Formats: sequence, C-alpha cells, structure tokens
Amino acid sequence: MSNAYDQVIKTTAWSPGPGCHGGCGVELYIKDGKVVRVEGDPDHPFSNGRVCSRLLACTQYFYHPERILHPMKRVGERGEGKWEQITWDEAFDTVETTWNRFKEESGPESVIFIQGTGRDIGGPISLLCYSYGSPNWTQLGLAGQSCYTPRLCSQMNKVGEFVVADCSQFFEKRYDDPRFEFPKYIVIWGQNPASGCPDAFFGHWVVDCMRKGGTKLIVIDPRANFFTSRADYWLQIRPGTDGALALCMTKLIIENDWYDHDFVEKWCYGFDELYEACKDYTLERTSEITDIPADIIYEATKAYATNHPCSIHWGLPLDQVPEATSVDDAVINLWCITGNLDVPGGNVIARNAWNVTQYPYSTAQLQELYGDDILERINSKRIGAARYKYLAHMRSWGQPDMAVQQMLDGNPYKIRSAWIQTSNLFGGQAANMRKHYKALMNMEFNVVVDTFLNPTSQAIGDLFLPAASFAEKESFRAWYQPLQLIRPAVTVGECKSDWEINLELARRFNPSLNDVYPTFKDYVNERIKGSGYTWDTLSKAGGWKFPDPETSPSSVPYRRYEKGYLRPDGKPGFRTPTGKVELYSTLNEEYEVHPVSFYVEPPESRVRTPELYEKYPLVMVSGRRSPVYFHSEHRNIPWCRVCDPDPVVEVHPEVMKQYGISDGEWVWVENDRGRIRRKVKMNPGIGKHMVSVPHGWWLPEKKGTGPEFYDAWDINCNILIPTDTQSESGYGGGAYKTTLVRLARITPADNMHPNDEDEWKDKR
Ligand code: SF4
Repeated sequence: MSNAYDQVIKTTAWSPGPGCHGGCGVELYIKDGKVVRVEGDPDHPFSNGRVCSRLLACTQYFYHPERILHPMKRVGERGEGKWEQITWDEAFDTVETTWNRFKEESGPESVIFIQGTGRDIGGPISLLCYSYGSPNWTQLGLAGQSCYTPRLCSQMNKVGEFVVADCSQFFEKRYDDPRFEFPKYIVIWGQNPASGCPDAFFGHWVVDCMRKGGTKLIVIDPRANFFTSRADYWLQIRPGTDGALALCMTKLIIENDWYDHDFVEKWCYGFDELYEACKDYTLERTSEITDIPADIIYEATKAYATNHPCSIHWGLPLDQVPEATSVDDAVINLWCITGNLDVPGGNVIARNAWNVTQYPYSTAQLQELYGDDILERINSKRIGAARYKYLAHMRSWGQPDMAVQQMLDGNPYKIRSAWIQTSNLFGGQAANMRKHYKALMNMEFNVVVDTFLNPTSQAIGDLFLPAASFAEKESFRAWYQPLQLIRPAVTVGECKSDWEINLELARRFNPSLNDVYPTFKDYVNERIKGSGYTWDTLSKAGGWKFPDPETSPSSVPYRRYEKGYLRPDGKPGFRTPTGKVELYSTLNEEYEVHPVSFYVEPPESRVRTPELYEKYPLVMVSGRRSPVYFHSEHRNIPWCRVCDPDPVVEVHPEVMKQYGISDGEWVWVENDRGRIRRKVKMNPGIGKHMVSVPHGWWLPEKKGTGPEFYDAWDINCNILIPTDTQSESGYGGGAYKTTLVRLARITPADNMHPNDEDEWKDKR
C-alpha cells in the first residue's frame, strides 16, 4: 500500500456529496481515517470508472470548514443566524415531544415531510412520515411535482412499467453482452446528459453507443449543447411545445405507415383513438407552434421510425410543460407504436434487480409496517388526494402547490411543522419563493436535515440535524441495476446518515419497528431478501450484483411481455387493466383526466397571453445543468465554483443588441413577480425568443442571515416563477421553462435589494 493512503474502499456514490441520483462505482482513498482522494472505480460496470467533477471534489465537501458537524438549535430569531450546539438526544427528544403534542392537538397530518430530488431519501423520509402517521410527504416548492414523477406515472398508467433508453446498462458485460444491440438512433429529448446526472442514466453511455456502435443522434432542445453539435437532426424547439411535436410525429408515423403493425395489433389498445387525437397536428401547424422547420420534423421522425432499434432518452422539461402527464403519454406512444419497447437498443423496461425496492410502498407492505388505516389516512388526508383522483392513485406525494397554500391558510386543516430533508427550497426548487417563505415562517417548528447552512435553514430553521455524506454512511441502492451497497469509510464530526436519523425517530413514534428492524442492516436484509443476498454476503461478493434470468427472469431484458414475465398472473402482456400497452389509457379515464394525449399552449406565451408577451417578450428557461453543480449544491466547493463562478443569464447576440447590453454586464431579469440580478453570458446557441437562466443559485460567500440569506432573493430565478400551473392530473406543468420575462439595465439609481414585494409593486 502506498504512503499516500492506508486503504482503498470501494463503494457507491449516492448523496450527500456529489449531489446525485447516484449509482457510480467509487474508490475512496483513506489516510489516517480521512478520505484523501476520490476516484471512479474502473471495475464498476455501471459507470466504468467515469464520474463527475462534483465527486472528484468531494474531499473539499467532506471536510469543508463550514460543514455542520453537530446538531444545533436556533437561539435567536429566525434569520438571525444564532445557533447553539446540542446533543443528538436533546435533538431527538425535542422532535418527539413537539410532534407528540401536535399529534394530540391537531393530528399527525399537521406535520409535513419535505424532500428534494431523488437522492437516497425516499426510504428514510417515508419511514419517518408514515411511522409518525402523517400522509403528507412532498417535494414542497416543486410546482406541480414537476420532476420525474409525471413521466413515471404516465409510464405506469400506459405500460405498467418504468422504461429507459437501452445502453446495455442491465448487463454486467455491457456492450459486449451478445443480447444487446446498439441503437441506430438515440433521440435525446429535453436533456443534456453530458452535464447533468439524470436518473440512472449517463451521457457517457450515449458517447459509447456513438463510438462503439455508430449510433446517430436526434436532439430536441431549445439550447445548443454537447449533443446538438453531434446530432444528425437538431430540433430547436420553442419551450413548452413538446406535446404538439410528439402528436405530429405520431401522425406522420401512422399516415406514412412507419409503425410496427405486429406490435400495435397484438400488444396495443386504443390505436384508433390515438390517431383521432393526433390527426390535426399537420407539419405546417406544428412547425408554426414549435418554431421547428417542417422538413426537419419530417426527416427526424422518418429517421427515428424507419430505423430499428431506436430509443428515446427524455428529460425534466417534459415534466415542466403544460399538461405534462399528457405530453409524457404522447412521447411514450412513440416508442410503443414503433415497436421499440423492451427490445435490444430500444426503450427497455427498467425493473430493479430481483425486483428489490428501496423502501416498502405496496399496499400490503405499508399496512404491515404502519397499520391497516395508513392507506385510508394517506388517501383521505393527503394534500391533493381529494381533488386529484390521478394523484390519489399514483405515487404518494402531497400536491405541492396545494400544500404551500394550506400551510398559509390552514384549509382544510392546519399544518404546524415541517421536516425538511435534502432540500434547500430557497436555493433550489421553490417556485414563488416569497409564498414559500411566508408559509414556512407560518410553521411553529421547522427541522432541517442537511450538510451546510443555506438560505432555507438560515431563514426558517429551528433545529438543524447534520447529515452524513455517502462516504460516512451505510446504505444500499436498488434503482435500477445492479443492486449495490454504500459502505461507510470514515466518520466526520457527529454527522449521522438520513437512515440513522429517521430510523431513530421512527422507532420513537412506531416502537414496533424495534422488533422489525433492530439495526439498519436488518432493514437492508429485509429489503434485499429477494436477491438471495444479505448485506454481508453481498459485501463479500464485491458490493454489487446483477440479477440473472434463472433467479429473476422479470428483471432481465428483453421482450418480457411475450413470456408472461410482467403480469402478476404470469400471462403474456402488460400490468395494465387491458393487459396491453394503453395508447388510450383506461386508468386516465377512471381518474377523469384525458385518456389520450392532448396539447395546450404554455400558460404564458405569445399565443395565450399576447399582451403580457408584448411586455415580457422572452421565454425564461431555467434549470440547465452545470457539470459542477447539483441543483443548489456545490457553490461553496472551491474546485467546483472556479469552473462556473457566476449566476448568469444566457442571451442570444441579437437580443443583446436589442437591449444594448454586453457580455459580462449585470442586468435585471424581470417580470410582474419581481426581478433578479444576473450576469450576461452571450450564447448564439439559444433561441432569439428565450433566455437561459440556470437555477439553484445562492452565494455562500455572502451574508447568510436575513434579509439577504446569501443573496438568494437577489439572484434566484424562482422569484419569477409562479405556482399553481399544475396539470389536470395534479402532477407536472411547473412553469420553470415557460415563464415570460424581459431584461433591463441596472442603473446606479437601482438599489441592490430589489425584492421587497411592495417596493417592486410600485416600480413595476
Ligand atoms: S452525481 Fe452522478 S455522475 Fe456524479 S457521482 Fe453521482 S451518480 Fe455519478
């Protein structure tokens, strides 16, 4: 072993640390009990040793001077930044006593459980939420719950399965596995996987397919990126109009007879109704709606439909268009009617290894752990379940737009406390930040679990619990494959993993858990028992394993619908009411939403609000990924920050000329909801009718206490974005990519703290 380190620990990355949706194989180099170097694990088939810059910078994260290492309670007023170190026992006792009183006085539904994106959190937070008895688990601030959930629900309704673009990621031998076939084309729809870290998918897989298999690209994106420059077809779409494009492509495929007759006739339901829904989306009309030339739409659709196999890799913008669940339905129809579902190189059904789930969510499992009435409570009291039948039956989120309103007006019942874990609302996801600030200030008791103080914990936190990073925790990952362990390498301060924190509190509210899960490893062993492994045997086997067709035929590709591996009754077909792929969704019909796809204009647009467009003629697209940041994280990590130092607004050169602004100049980005300061970055690769404004910005180097809160109110684009634009299903439709704005020069007369609501009302 070298002098530079004592040992190397192989593990899996999954937040906190690189941020992420996780799954990369990692090597942690340890010296004297500290991580001195982080590298990708070259032997790991999921990521092949390739990791992101955030991970490589993790030693600066783990040992950052401002990392919170001990539990703290607020001692001054909220926003004063006065915190006092306390013990874990005092912290747990405070939560237990306070929440038991709230349960007594107002019912368990009076506590809301808030998380951020799909980090290693769904398990811990649902365990605590349901053990306490609350039905209210949500991604508060995320308007319309517009992050993956709409796409997941659409897939479950129409296909009965989750589906991803096949890049051989379900095989240990990857591209050398004889069962895999390289796609002829990959359609990348609304994502730049080179910069982002999408849900269990990597941009370097697309590059592998291009290099190793000659795969070509069709990219649908309003902004130029790594993949648009290498695409055969780049469809530079008007933000928010993806639904019209998908319906037009469907019409072209059907009318040109480019669809897979055998698959449609044998495995699809509702083909005629689908044609009815798309027949009016002519090339001319769609080109006018989307700003994409008709010939490019035609040629790209033909390339996709007449080459086989092809796949579609889609991104978050498809959750943030109007009526997102319906638009997602329209995209799913494309890979189904072209016969690309669960075939090599197509869109493969993504079952977890041995169908292991990260946490219990089936009816039977929930009742066994949390009592018979948990479901009744989840569906009678859960925020939004009474209004949205779709939401009541799909996933168990509280509807976030309704939740923030209920936190303000207490209608139909009072919310008194918020548990906020892996979510920096005022740095990251909270649309209409002011409304969320008022709502959280309205809570009697807020607990924040995180790694650093940030605008949210400083503004509204009462108790701060320090979370352990992935290098300091035990956990596992069953999303999708392989089944992997996250193995602790070091300890830092008194930090505890989200699992440890939540299991301790869950046991206090649900003592029966002491028998079910005496230790966390017992929890893991119970979850992974279907694999035949335990924590110890999987660890001895290297820490990760792929299933094989003998022991888990349903979790190994391909064409499982033909072999009866998908339906619980073992018959051929799909886990849908008709047993077929439902191009016409019978479940949507039951939930009183459109059973076939439809398109509507964005809530603010040149078509729907021409007067507003007159005043604010630019579409603000927020959310483009930075390779060095994960949502609102890593602005305080020097190796990351030096690569992307400023909150920018990307502007087309012709638009800059119109406004008389120059590259590097600070300007206002504004609309009727407020204004934010951003640094102009010239970008000829974006549309002339839009600006790109990256989200997640706050400045850790600035004053963290109120009213500034690290300048979040001054630079965060969510100030400009409304809530309450959700789809008819309750899911999707957050206006993060379709809000209208204008630019304005900053004059010396401008005071630098613009976002005093009343002051802005007068100025507007
Ligand atoms: S953020 Fe993504 S790329 Fe980075 S380590 Fe995590 S999973 Fe891998």
